[in-house]
Amino acid sequence: MNKTTENSGEATKSKNFLEMIIDNDIQKGKNEGRVHTRFPPEPNGYLHIGHAKSICLNFGLAEKYNGKCNLRFDDTNPSKEEEEYVNSIMEDVKWLGFDWEDRLFYASDYFDQLYEWAVKLIKDGKAYVDDQSADLISEQRGVPTRPGIDSPFRNRSVEENLGLFERMKAGEFPNGTHVLRAKIDMASPNMHMRDPVLYRIMHSKHHRTGDKWCIYPMYDFAHGQSDYLEGITHSICTLEFEIHRPLYDWFLDQLIDTDYRPRQHEFARLNLSYTVMSKRKLLELVTEKYVSGWDDPRMPTISGLRRRGYTPEAIRNFADRVGVAKRENVIDVGLLEFSVREHLNKVAPRIFAVLDPLKVIITNYPEGKTEDLILENNPEDPEGGNRVVPFSREILIERDDFMEDPPNKFFRLGPGREVRLKGAYIIKCEDYKKDENGNVTELYCTYDPETKSGSGEMRKVKGTLHWVSEAESVDAEIRIYDRLFMNESPDDLEEGGDFKSNLNPESLKIVKGKIEPSVKNAKPMDKFQFQRLGYYCVDLDSSATKLIFNRTVTLKDTWAKMNK
Ligand code: ATP
Ligand code: MG
Repeated sequence: MNKTTENSGEATKSKNFLEMIIDNDIQKGKNEGRVHTRFPPEPNGYLHIGHAKSICLNFGLAEKYNGKCNLRFDDTNPSKEEEEYVNSIMEDVKWLGFDWEDRLFYASDYFDQLYEWAVKLIKDGKAYVDDQSADLISEQRGVPTRPGIDSPFRNRSVEENLGLFERMKAGEFPNGTHVLRAKIDMASPNMHMRDPVLYRIMHSKHHRTGDKWCIYPMYDFAHGQSDYLEGITHSICTLEFEIHRPLYDWFLDQLIDTDYRPRQHEFARLNLSYTVMSKRKLLELVTEKYVSGWDDPRMPTISGLRRRGYTPEAIRNFADRVGVAKRENVIDVGLLEFSVREHLNKVAPRIFAVLDPLKVIITNYPEGKTEDLILENNPEDPEGGNRVVPFSREILIERDDFMEDPPNKFFRLGPGREVRLKGAYIIKCEDYKKDENGNVTELYCTYDPETKSGSGEMRKVKGTLHWVSEAESVDAEIRIYDRLFMNESPDDLEEGGDFKSNLNPESLKIVKGKIEPSVKNAKPMDKFQFQRLGYYCVDLDSSATKLIFNRTVTLKDTWAKMNK
């Protein structure tokens, strides 16, 4: 873990391996000392916390080295990409606090240039049209320990290849009948070098180029060249692309004659316990309605975390804390939760909310009287200010803060016991009432007028409870979210298993709560600490007539306790 302290900045923080590479490049005067990165999402789903890590890394390095970072949509596959995803990705990057300025690009911006480069490869005898099916091609590719078999079309003449490629582009052939392949080495130990496919036929409309193209470049043929065209210096990607790097470099070597080259560097992707991060699986949860959408507060998507009440600061701090590794690893999701707790602790006002109310009548408090108590919003925030909380004869406390026959260590209410009502008085339980089913329905307490909070030295009691005054309290729907998966590694499955069998059946509980009146004008996304309960935020669908809160995170890591 990196040593980070809020204000001490760079000096105390050890450098990660990418920073060391960049330092070294700058020292050698590589690319005139420029640092230019890019974040290259494929718009085929919403971004998740793993992408957030990549965004923080790419934009963060650019910021740190006074460089630039581009946003580039890798939109080479028309059948899977949608405008909705493009928009959500831009929103998420901005929300995280990063700015691509005027550098918004699409791989599809380069389709003409990529086509010309493909033609150049053909003319140089380094690419050929293969008429075989995808299955046959992959069969002939062999296995790493054994060379592959040459395609019967490998030695077509340049003229024939040019003619066929032209006709592929003109739409003369159906999908799957021809591909353009690089002519590299069918015996290479690196399978990606065994005549990889450069272009395939796809009669599909593209979200930006419409019907202009019916052949589309493969990711590998687009990525390095896009980096080149944008002047990228450090092309940072996840480890699975390490084995693609020779191909990335091969294309540039064939096509580019300048000294400048983008250079690919790989880091370990972020994996989180109790979390799935594959876009395919997240899409499955959305389309099969296991969650309410991509922004369901239980989703590890950036939009889900945002709706849940996470802050950009919390996510950025988390990304910083996990650092960059060269080897695969799994980060405890507790660290992400810790980061949001840590930030919300500083910025979220404290309020009183009772989620499972039990009525308390303070028998010696005058009927019809209300006192306006002035309470501090956030002891952690010097500028947090105060609020008014009404106190009266009839209040609500949390049902589980009372026990008829409590053990000694229960420092809450029980017959004859005393507690402090936070910010108010000490009360003593004198009696209680039960219904015909034996459920406690009302407590009868007395208060000690000499114990008003803030009025100097006074006697102390062990327990302090949160509460609301019944008459002034407001109703709210409270969505108590928990982790979406019960298992630490929801992707680790037995043969034929389904990750969805690991879903946590208790990941959402909805209750009707009562909240102090100061929340009446709360707006969607406002964040609070419900004292003693956790951090909550106002949901996007909340309104003045129906307040809805989402639980962001508990006050403590309850899972860590449970698993011990
Ligand atoms: P796909 O399976 O669709 O390729 P992907 O998660 O790789 O999914 P991309 O849109 O290609 O999605 O990813 C954009 C960028 O985010 C890439 O540079 C990728 O390496 C990076 N990225 C994706 N997942 C993670 C992760 N878990 N941790 C860190 N970076 C990630
Ligand atoms: Mg990808």
